[in-house]
Amino acid sequence: MALIVHKYGGTSMGSTERIKNVAKRVAKWHDAGHQIVVVPSAMSGETNRLIGLAKEIMPQPDPRELDMLASTGEQVSVALLSMALQTIGKQAVSYAGWQVPVKTDSAFTKARIQSIDDQRVRKDLGEGKIVIITGFQGVDNGGNITTLGRGGSDTSAVAVAAALKAQECLIYTDVDGVYTTDPRVVSEARRLKTVTFEEMLELASLGSKVLQIRSVEFAGNYKVPTRVLSSLTDPLMPLEEEANSGTLISFEEDTHMEQAVISGIAFNRDEAKITVLGVPDKPGIAYQILGPVADANVEVDMIIQNQSVEGKTDFTFTVARGEYAKAMDVLNKSVREHIGAGNIVGDTKVSKVSVVGVGMRSHVGIASQMFRTLSEEGINIQMISTSEIKISVLIDEKYMELAVRALHKAFDLEKA
Ligand code: ADP
Ligand code: ASP
Ligand code: MG
Repeated sequence: MALIVHKYGGTSMGSTERIKNVAKRVAKWHDAGHQIVVVPSAMSGETNRLIGLAKEIMPQPDPRELDMLASTGEQVSVALLSMALQTIGKQAVSYAGWQVPVKTDSAFTKARIQSIDDQRVRKDLGEGKIVIITGFQGVDNGGNITTLGRGGSDTSAVAVAAALKAQECLIYTDVDGVYTTDPRVVSEARRLKTVTFEEMLELASLGSKVLQIRSVEFAGNYKVPTRVLSSLTDPLMPLEEEANSGTLISFEEDTHMEQAVISGIAFNRDEAKITVLGVPDKPGIAYQILGPVADANVEVDMIIQNQSVEGKTDFTFTVARGEYAKAMDVLNKSVREHIGAGNIVGDTKVSKVSVVGVGMRSHVGIASQMFRTLSEEGINIQMISTSEIKISVLIDEKYMELAVRALHKAFDLEKA
């Protein structure tokens, strides 16, 4: 007997029919003698719908109220799933984040989990109940409901698994694992049987939304065995087969995915680039430009500063497209007033494409192969950034899919 956490995403919970299938699958695991905690997302489209409603009333919704609203999608899901389990003869109980409680900081819309109390859950499990906890939401010290950022139910699930010292966290989704790239963009993408924790961390942070980055961080920090697998298979398929399907995140340092140099390609469509032209090239300039941006809670990604000409230089950086307007507002105030730069220009039609692989540590020439492939497709590289196991480029958004396909082929990632 083991304690296992199941997470079901929006598509998996997308209709009452699908919820009944989830219940059958969960009941199968429970029948096999396991203690099961389930962390579902809102039904697909629901979180978008709620955010849309908020924006109809308030274009930049108040973050606290937005969390109050957006968190309700998950509350619907847990109650429906609990009913579906009870209907097939299981004892089940659902909880909102604050009832557990799942404690977070007060950063509304992107809160971080600080602690999870396991007492109530353990008591229920001990009584043979299946426990269902809302994904995506928590409660801060002041008793306010918070949410963990888009895709945050993954993080809820892994954090719950860590708090309960679960044997495994199974992330059920609408694909049957982690692929070499998004299978919706490259149909030849291949499923990985295992992916190292480090690679998964890079893939998630660079835009592969199959797992929210913080869920991968939790998995790493608490060594939670985590597997991504399909919720769209027959819910009554043999448990052994299901337990070994999908993609396992591995924590072994030396083994990496089937010994390939590159494991995967990630992309992020929604980038924006900002250039501050003609800033004086002197100490403190990067701080003066980026300090106010950071103070406004806008995350900066790639950064370059050009060679200076006659004491002046251009400073370029990227932010998430959704934060472009905010970043521009901040810069227009701070830079113009204090730095006296010539002009601020921006481009919201850029995307980032990255190749990731721990094999890069021991192989040279990956960057040049990447740049050659893009040049053969006539794709201009606007910015480059690298780490030990990844190379990212910023390109015009209209070439993003072409770039991903070309690189997928060039690095031999296609199905055998
Ligand atoms: P859920 O609602 O279950 O959380 P998401 O939509 O958040 O599901 O994540 C699953 C989706 O992630 C897939 O449908 C797929 O399009 C996308 N995806 C992006 N990159 C990858 C990848 N490398 N491997 C698998 N899926 C990926
Ligand atoms: N429902 C939330 C979202 O759509 C959380 C999640 O699905 O993981 O972002
Ligand atoms: Mg998701």
